[in-house]
Amino acid sequence: MNPTLRNALIFIGAILLTGVVLASMTLENAKKTDIATLANDVQNGNVTKLVVSGNEVTVTYKDNTQARTQKEEGDSLPTVLKNYGVDTEKTRAIPTEVKEPSGWSYWLSILIPNFLPIVLLVLVMWFFFRQVQGQNNRAMQFGQMAGHEIPKDAKDKITFKDVAGVKEAKHELVEIVDFLKTPEKFSAFGAKIPKGVLLMGTPGTGKTLLARAVAGEAGVPFLFISGSEFVEMFVGVGASRVRDLFERAKKNAPCIVFIDEIDAVGRQRGSGLGGSHDEREQTLNQILVEMDGFEPNAGVIVIAATNRPDVLDPALLRPGRFDRRIVLDPPDIDDREAIIKIHAKKKPLAKGVSLRKLAERTPGFSGADLANLMNEAAILAVRRNKTSINEDELLESIEKVMLGPERRGRVMNEHEREITAYHEVGHALVAHLLPHSDPVQKVSIISRGRAAGYTIKTPTEDRHMRTREEYREDMAVGLGGYAAEQIIFGDITTGASSDMRHITQTARDMVTQWGMSEVLGPRVYGERSDMIFLGRDIHENRDYSDKKAELIDTEIDGLIREALDRAKTLIADNREAMDKVAKVLLEKETLEREAFLEAIGLPAANPDNRPEAGRKRKEERGKAEVEEAEA
Ligand code: ADP
Ligand code: MG
Ligand code: ZN
Repeated sequence: MNPTLRNALIFIGAILLTGVVLASMTLENAKKTDIATLANDVQNGNVTKLVVSGNEVTVTYKDNTQARTQKEEGDSLPTVLKNYGVDTEKTRAIPTEVKEPSGWSYWLSILIPNFLPIVLLVLVMWFFFRQVQGQNNRAMQFGQMAGHEIPKDAKDKITFKDVAGVKEAKHELVEIVDFLKTPEKFSAFGAKIPKGVLLMGTPGTGKTLLARAVAGEAGVPFLFISGSEFVEMFVGVGASRVRDLFERAKKNAPCIVFIDEIDAVGRQRGSGLGGSHDEREQTLNQILVEMDGFEPNAGVIVIAATNRPDVLDPALLRPGRFDRRIVLDPPDIDDREAIIKIHAKKKPLAKGVSLRKLAERTPGFSGADLANLMNEAAILAVRRNKTSINEDELLESIEKVMLGPERRGRVMNEHEREITAYHEVGHALVAHLLPHSDPVQKVSIISRGRAAGYTIKTPTEDRHMRTREEYREDMAVGLGGYAAEQIIFGDITTGASSDMRHITQTARDMVTQWGMSEVLGPRVYGERSDMIFLGRDIHENRDYSDKKAELIDTEIDGLIREALDRAKTLIADNREAMDKVAKVLLEKETLEREAFLEAIGLPAANPDNRPEAGRKRKEERGKAEVEEAEA
């Protein structure tokens, strides 16, 4: 039952109860009589006392009993009795007391029987009316309950201390904090405080976190709304929400308005994608109107976040709007260590656990991935009834975050296991024997997520650019599994399908995007938006002739064929090492780097990848590559 209904019922019940109590109070326990009997009793001298209160007559008899009766309205008691034929003398002889009808109980005794039904009716009507109105109100407020608010003195305040890495972004935002704290300082110099800041970065780099930290540092309220919240609404509601959000912001100034995932509403207008198109445009227009509407130094700073700056409407980026743009870089090794440290704070780590080592093992992880990693490790430790989190749990969680949970329940038959083992060793062996490939970190045939087995290579140094040769070797490594299946078993399984997708994409990019084909030259074929920022154009804009298209295909095929040949040659030439590693892998299921090196017994082709070079390894920026056999 809903609380309003319950309250109303209790209220009505209480009124009924008081009515009953009051009614019984006025009745008392005297017996009733009527005027005719009373007249008779008076005539016979049985009555010793009369009390008249309004129309009510209380009679006291000789035997000290009492009775009540009502007389007619208007006439006095003696007149009434006289009309009933009582002698006036007899009436006079009886002491008669006339009382003012006693205030409230008298009135209630009249009102309750007459008005209670009306009062109840009114109550019920009022109650239903309120219900209906409530719904109306809610419908009206729907558009206004814009976003959420974290007050300036929230308990779990987030500050810059809670955000590791992203140094440049923090550096820029310190200025924003200054604006919010001491706007006068800037106004005095005639400086215009920026209205809008756009945070750009891949998912999980800490955009939302950083925006909250700015509010926390400045000690101002944080009003936030997510772009995706607009998408699910009726037409017109988005715009009214924006209006209300800014209304509240102006009242709360200085404060921060945070619009998360602004690309959800801020896409380039007129692109015609998606059904809620009008709604988006209206919402976006309203954001622009609001941003233009307030004074630059009003103390409201709008921060927006996106991982798709390429799809944003240019109007958003015009001066006076989001003209400060800040990029959040993915964390490098030091950042990762710092992020891990933050998320290790309230967790009991075993002594001797090296967070540095964890950071080394997690290139390509975002801040969110690392937070997730620490959480998974803690859960794992609890499930294993440990008193603290050990390195085992931490390392295992890396793979869980990267590839999904282990699927030990998935039983492979002996033949499948063997194929998977050779497939993975194929990747690992080719990687090990090519001079530019990254060192093999781990080989495993334990199913994880969608993969039946996996091989992890971790880059050893900072990498911002990559060469054609590296890509060619990458493709050979990618086809190592396929080549191994073909050579060892003379057949191909579906396990190599994701490998194939991957290398085909690499070959296509080499030819059409990176100018790495001599035949086709340094030219881009087909304009495409960046791979990370898929979205604006779903289809490729084809800007080349059919003749070139054929050439592109030939070149892609050539690259793939060359890579496959390389992989096959390496595997055929090292069949013995291959068998050795596969045997150990089938037995142990997982080989860490050291075990793999021991089993293969061949020196790595890349001198930097040899164990003795380990000390010299520099920081890496690339992503750890995983070659997985699809399940
Ligand atoms: P984004 O908004 O960029 O997608 P979030 O700010 O939502 O990423 O990050 C998600 C979570 O990941 C945060 O709540 C935090 O726990 C963690 N995280 C991300 N980046 C960092 C960082 N630089 N320092 C500390 N924690 C981070
Ligand atoms: Mg976010
Ligand atoms: Zn594979």
